[in-house]
Amino acid sequence: MTRVISVHEASVTYPSEVRALDRVSLSVSQGELLAILGPSGSGKSTLLNIMGTLAAPTSGSVIIEGQDVAELSDRQLSALRGRRLGFVFQHFHLTDGLTAAENVATGLLYAGVPRKYRKKLAEEALARVGLARRAGHLPGQLSGGERQRVAIARAVVHEPALVLADEPTGALDTANGAAALALLTELNAAGTTIALITHDRDIADQLPRRVHLRDGRLVTDTALTGSPS
Ligand code: ADP
Repeated sequence: MTRVISVHEASVTYPSEVRALDRVSLSVSQGELLAILGPSGSGKSTLLNIMGTLAAPTSGSVIIEGQDVAELSDRQLSALRGRRLGFVFQHFHLTDGLTAAENVATGLLYAGVPRKYRKKLAEEALARVGLARRAGHLPGQLSGGERQRVAIARAVVHEPALVLADEPTGALDTANGAAALALLTELNAAGTTIALITHDRDIADQLPRRVHLRDGRLVTDTALTGSPS
């Protein structure tokens, strides 16, 4: 299996001396869907941030598609993020004044896709998440569940190597959360590699691989133990 990302012995220490991550190692292969679990403050967001090159580890390394990201300039890092990664946030982070299709098209801005193709690709991505008929709606005219589907469409429109989702169901009610998870599972079945943070045990239990953090350490990884945690 092609390795999409490897985190090697990564530690993150904040200036306050908090060790948010402590020598965490984790590899994700193409086609995986994994949950990152752990109590609040255990380092989940810090791990996702270094996987997404939004922050650099204090020590250790992050390799994305064979490239050590520490060797990249800021510009190269932005290009890597724009072309190879997709992000989904708990609170969607859609732009209010843009339609659903325009929001999705922003996912193509840094992917090197010519303007004339962006609209069509955005509409296709909206169709994939079941929102073809909402393409012209503004975020304010959509439900929370629909907004998250738009955000998911934006995260996958450029066909990234890896989608990183920080509590993608955290701001949704149970039914919409389940629908968002079903959508992510469906995208994964079609080939998208996804790592998501969740607090929700029921959601985690449905995912093929789970890694647990505690006090900044990776304490279990079902890919290594082979057993449910
Ligand atoms: P989680 O996502 O599991 O809730 P985080 O990765 O957000 O955990 O945080 C891990 C630890 O790092 C916590 O102790 C948190 O208080 C601390 N932390 C997170 N971000 C910062 C920051 N910007 N500055 C200082 N400490 C931080």
